[in-house]
Amino acid sequence: MKHVKITALSLSLAALLVAGCSNGNGGNAGSGSDASGSDAASGTAASKVTLKFMTQSSPLAPADPNEKLIFKRMEEKTGIHINWTNYTNDVFAEKRNLALATGDLPDAIFDAGLGDYDLLKLAKDGTIIPLDDIIKNMPNLNKVLEAAPQYKAMMTAPDGHIYSLPWIEELGSGKESIHSVNDIPWINKGWLDKLGLQMPTTTEELKKVLIAFKTQDPNGNGKADEIPVSFINDDGGNEDISFLLGSFGEGFNWDETLVTDDGKVVFAANTEGYKAGMKYFNELYKEGLIDNEYVTQDWNTYIAKGKEQLYGLYFTWDKANVTGADSAYEPMPALAGPNGQKNVARTNGMGFDRGRMVVTKANKNLEATTKWMDQLYDPIQSVQNNWGTYGDDKQQNIFEFDEAANKLKHLPLDGTAPGELRAKTSVGGPLAILDGYYGKYTTKPDDAAWRLDILKKVYVPDMKAQQIYPRVFFSADELDRLSAIEADMMPYVLQKRTEWMQSGKVDKEWDGYLKELDRLGLQEWLQIKQAGYDRNVEK
Ligand code: CA
Repeated sequence: MKHVKITALSLSLAALLVAGCSNGNGGNAGSGSDASGSDAASGTAASKVTLKFMTQSSPLAPADPNEKLIFKRMEEKTGIHINWTNYTNDVFAEKRNLALATGDLPDAIFDAGLGDYDLLKLAKDGTIIPLDDIIKNMPNLNKVLEAAPQYKAMMTAPDGHIYSLPWIEELGSGKESIHSVNDIPWINKGWLDKLGLQMPTTTEELKKVLIAFKTQDPNGNGKADEIPVSFINDDGGNEDISFLLGSFGEGFNWDETLVTDDGKVVFAANTEGYKAGMKYFNELYKEGLIDNEYVTQDWNTYIAKGKEQLYGLYFTWDKANVTGADSAYEPMPALAGPNGQKNVARTNGMGFDRGRMVVTKANKNLEATTKWMDQLYDPIQSVQNNWGTYGDDKQQNIFEFDEAANKLKHLPLDGTAPGELRAKTSVGGPLAILDGYYGKYTTKPDDAAWRLDILKKVYVPDMKAQQIYPRVFFSADELDRLSAIEADMMPYVLQKRTEWMQSGKVDKEWDGYLKELDRLGLQEWLQIKQAGYDRNVEK
């Protein structure tokens, strides 16, 4: 590895020296030949600039991103051809990291999926370059930042530089944000009706309902094939069961970080409420109500059973993607726990992702790169990149485009799962969709409007927490410690939860569990998280 690194470095140094010699006067290298590099296979469009980008996409999408209509139109509009290296989502991180480590760098990484730690590390060793000056020449992005200046601070690293371009998607705000609840519990209303049962309002009622689902053949096929409750066991993910923990206390979210109303950062997995929730999960398990594949199943297994309508209760962002938009499932409201408590924990999610695109030190055409990147922040472009496009005669379209009004209008999905259609046609990457765009540049997606309505009516009234944990950009040292601690602590929490669900030994093992959390660094984790929170409040 070391050898490869040295070789790459000396090569780029050599290239720099050669470039320096040939452009000794410091003027622009006017000839188009060196812009596209020596490996430009097609000599047809001699003036067209070619950039080399790496990206990722869904396995449902075309292997060559240039086959996507959105990128075809972008190439026409910008005159810039992108030579893509594209990996499917499942292997992308590994391939990206390999390229970054060996110095086999693209000009930029689109949909880079880089976390804060990666960004700071790559910035420190010079693999990615600061974008401060580049951003000055991005009028579309600057319009976004003028309208929503809070994002500039969130884009900025602790050292004051900006190293990546963000994805911004506003849909609702505060408690009514579309991100407030990720793992909506969907209950089979058809089965409730068939068995003459009411929507459960307490955890005890839910248990009785699930037992009825298991024993009374609500799908009427004479077989006990019903799965009373299913979920993917991943501690706060969209398909996780942790929504139910809100009935016992503060509740749970995917980063296990909760904030009290007086600004204290709390860990979600060491409270008395969490412990009580573990006992409840064990009760469900002992009654045989939990899908026996819950530990091992992946998304595909999960939706296969969902499409067969075998679940009594399951969890996901939008039922359309699992059981179908027209399936008999309804959102189950928060349940009162043993002490009457009802609570919907809020996720710390917001429509903001810092590390969506980075430019590497290998990039020899920053001007073209800047132009191409700024196009991403054009409102009409952003909306399509996020959700999909219009006028594709080869497949179903997300939008129709009213050119005179410069406005995209969502078309009916006609039963198509929105996640799948978007995976095929949208491109993701950095973009911005501000609340003000709805009604001006685009309609709201039907599924988002529908989901926002569910949150507002069903869940917001039971959301207790006034605040969420903000999107703190930690220093590299802090991130180092957080990730080192989390690497051991988070799997341990999930492992114990899984064991307790089956063994019911939470009382007996609780004290040892708390000691082990401290041994794994929980107190330091809380200090760092609290310091980050306090800094952010001061800003
Ligand atoms: Ca049955």
